[in-house]
Amino acid sequence: MRNARRLRLRFDEAAGVLKLTCPWRTSRKSALAWALDQRDWIDRQLANVEPGEPFLPDAMIPIEGRDVRIAWSARAPRTPQRTGDELLCGGPEEGLARRIERYLKRLALETMSKEVAEFASAAGVAARQVSVGDAGSRWGSCSSQGKIRLSWRLILAPPEVRRYVVAHEVAHLVHLNHGRDFKALEARLLGPGVAEAKSALRRVGPRLRRVGRG
Ligand SMILES: [Zn+2]
Repeated sequence: MRNARRLRLRFDEAAGVLKLTCPWRTSRKSALAWALDQRDWIDRQLANVEPGEPFLPDAMIPIEGRDVRIAWSARAPRTPQRTGDELLCGGPEEGLARRIERYLKRLALETMSKEVAEFASAAGVAARQVSVGDAGSRWGSCSSQGKIRLSWRLILAPPEVRRYVVAHEVAHLVHLNHGRDFKALEARLLGPGVAEAKSALRRVGPRLRRVGRG
């Protein structure tokens, strides 16, 4: 398309290809650099086409970066319980997926509320609210009112990846931008490993989005 006025990415699901459209004058290099920046969007498209990993008896799901088997037995207690590499789940098979999701959301909220408090106190601030959700596109957000919202799916990720997102959002309590001061605070809160955690999130992100789906 010779007259394209802006860069555009389109995912052709049937053909399994990404199509990049760019204005006539854009250099190949800058068009590709732009496309690489759309990584989150691309991951989401891919997560939608790859088969989900539903919560079913004997399925393996990642919890805090470790593969855990869903061990279902109708006689076990209804509330899932984690023992080593197994998630013991009882009650009727119907509703099992819902109970597991509820368990993971609660675990995510508990774990990350503590981490928010820990990082916030190191930054000398406090969050007004911490909540978990499943806002498809974002792993976390922080409002100007000091409310932090995190994806419950982060509890599936390795702890260093999860902690990176939490530290990132807590740093936004102080700086609502990604400027130099923000980056310095983020690095101080998390310690070394920001770049590694960031690229690990990119790597594991698509799978985290498939867990419990389909
Ligand atoms: Zn940010």
